[in-house]
Amino acid sequence: MMTKDKGCVFLIGAGPGDPGLITVKGLEALQQAEVVVYDYLANAELLKEARPEAELIYVGKQAGQHTLSQDEINRLLVEKAQAGKMVARLKGGDPFVFGRGGEEAMVLAAAGVPFEVIPGVTSAVAAPAYAGIPVTQRGLASSFAVITGHEDPTKAESAIDWEYLARGVDTLIFLMGVGNLPKIVAQLMEYGRPPETPAALVRWGTTPRQETVVGTLADIAEKAKAAGLRPPAVAVIGQVVNLREYLRWYDRKPLFGKRVLVTRSREQASVLSRRLRELGAEPVELPAIALEPPEDYSPLDAAIRNTHQYNWIIFTSANGVRAFMERLWTLGWDARSLSRAKLAAIGPATATALEQYHLRADYVPDQYVAEAVAAGIGDVRGQRILLPRTDIARPALAIALREAGAAVDEVTAYCTVLAGTVQGSALTSEDVRQMLAENQIDVVTFTSSSTVRNLVALLGDAEPLRGPLIACIGPITAGTAREMGLRVDMVAEEYTIDGLIEVLIREVDVLGEEPS
Ligand code: SAH
Repeated sequence: MMTKDKGCVFLIGAGPGDPGLITVKGLEALQQAEVVVYDYLANAELLKEARPEAELIYVGKQAGQHTLSQDEINRLLVEKAQAGKMVARLKGGDPFVFGRGGEEAMVLAAAGVPFEVIPGVTSAVAAPAYAGIPVTQRGLASSFAVITGHEDPTKAESAIDWEYLARGVDTLIFLMGVGNLPKIVAQLMEYGRPPETPAALVRWGTTPRQETVVGTLADIAEKAKAAGLRPPAVAVIGQVVNLREYLRWYDRKPLFGKRVLVTRSREQASVLSRRLRELGAEPVELPAIALEPPEDYSPLDAAIRNTHQYNWIIFTSANGVRAFMERLWTLGWDARSLSRAKLAAIGPATATALEQYHLRADYVPDQYVAEAVAAGIGDVRGQRILLPRTDIARPALAIALREAGAAVDEVTAYCTVLAGTVQGSALTSEDVRQMLAENQIDVVTFTSSSTVRNLVALLGDAEPLRGPLIACIGPITAGTAREMGLRVDMVAEEYTIDGLIEVLIREVDVLGEEPS
C-alpha cells in the first residue's frame, strides 16, 4: 500500500449493502484511514471498522438531498489528502459503476494527489444474486448490460442505444431506474423486446430490508407502483429472472427482515449481531451497559495476591474472567497463581473465556444460573470461595454458599454502568425510541438483568417496549423484565446466545403473526 506521509486517497467500493461484501483490501484501507468520506449507500455499519480517532465525514447523495455537491466532495478529498491525510473514500457498490468515482479520480489525478482504486461488489450483480437471479446462465443469457435509468429515454439525443439493448443484450440491469421505469419498459418494448419478458425489481438488495417485485416487461412498472417500491432498486430484465423461483435463498432465511435490538455492551454485541445477520435479521445495536474498571482495585488485588488460599474461584461471566485475568497479569502474576484453587464457570461462554487463558473449568452446571453452581459444586463446608464479579451481581450465589458453610469473598472485578453513546455507532437512545414508536423494531433482546434495567433507564420508561417482542436469555433476566413491567414473549431454554438465537428462530414468526 501507499505510504501515507504524503497524503493519498483510496477510492473504495463498500459493496452493495451487506457489510460482509466489502473486499479484504477495502477493509484494510478503511481500517488504516485517518479520514473517511462516505455516502448514503455505503453501509454505516462499516464505519465501526475505522480507527476511533478517524474523522468521519458524511457527504450524503441520497437522491434529491445532496449534503455536499460533487464539486465540494472533490475539493474535500483533495484538501484532506494535501493536508497529508490518508483518506478512505467509501462508496456504495463499486466506485467506478455509476458512482462518480471516475470523476473523483480525474480531479485527484489533475491535482497530483496519489490515489488507488479498490473495486467493490456492485449492486448491479449483487442485488439480483441475493434475490436468486444470476445475471448470466448457460442457455438463457450469454450477455448482460448495466445501464443508467437516470436518463429520460424519450429525450431526443439519448446516449443509450435502445434498439441495440432491446434486441442485442440478454440481461438488462438498470440502476437508478425506479422513477423512469414506465418509460424504460415502454422504450424496450417499442424496440422489439417482447412484453412477456420476465422482469424484477430488487430494492435495498443484500440487506435485511431487501424487497423484490417480479413481473414482466408489460406489468413490472405497474406492479412496482402498486407495491410502493421506491429507490434504491435495481431492475433486472431477461429470462434469468425466472430462475428466482428455484434459486431464491436470502429472503428465505429464518429471521429475514426482522429488526432486532441488541442491548449488550459494545464489546459483546458483535457475536450476537453476527449470528442475527447470518440468519437474515438486521441487528440494531444500542449498548445499554458498558463495562468499566472498579473504582477501587484493592479488594480485587488482595484476592489476587491470596489466590492460593481459596478452594474455589467461581466465575459468573466471561467479563469477570477477563477482568480478573487481565488484572492478575497487570500485577505481575500469571496463570500459575491459580494452580491451587478449583475453578467453576457459570456457563459455556464463561468456560470458553477461561480456556482463552488455557484454564479448564473444574465445574460447569447443567443450568446456567448462579443457584445451580451453589447446588452442584459439592460440599463446601469450611471452604474458602472467591467470587470475582461485577459490582451489581445478584447476592443469591454468595448467600447460598454461605448457607452451605463456606467463607465467601465477593470482590468487584469490573463495574457495569449505564452506557453512553458510542463513537461510530450511528444510533442514540433517542433514535431507538423513535424506531420503537414507529414499530420499526420487531424484537428486543436482553442478555442480562442489567441490560433490561439500563435500557429502560435510557428510554426513560418501559412504555416504548410494549410494541416489540421481548426475548430474554434466561429466567433471571426474564424475571427482571417482568418486574420492570415488560411482557416477556420468549425465554431461551439454554441460557446462552445460541439458546437465545434458537428461541428466536422458533418463535418469532409464530408470535409475530398473532394479533397483539
Ligand atoms: N456504485 C454503485 C451504484 C451507484 S448508483 C454500485 O456499484 O452499486 C445508485 C444506484 O445503485 C441506486 O439508484 C440503485 O439503482 C443501485 N443500488 C445501490 N445499492 C443498491 C442496493 N442495495 N439495492 C438495490 N439497488 C442498489
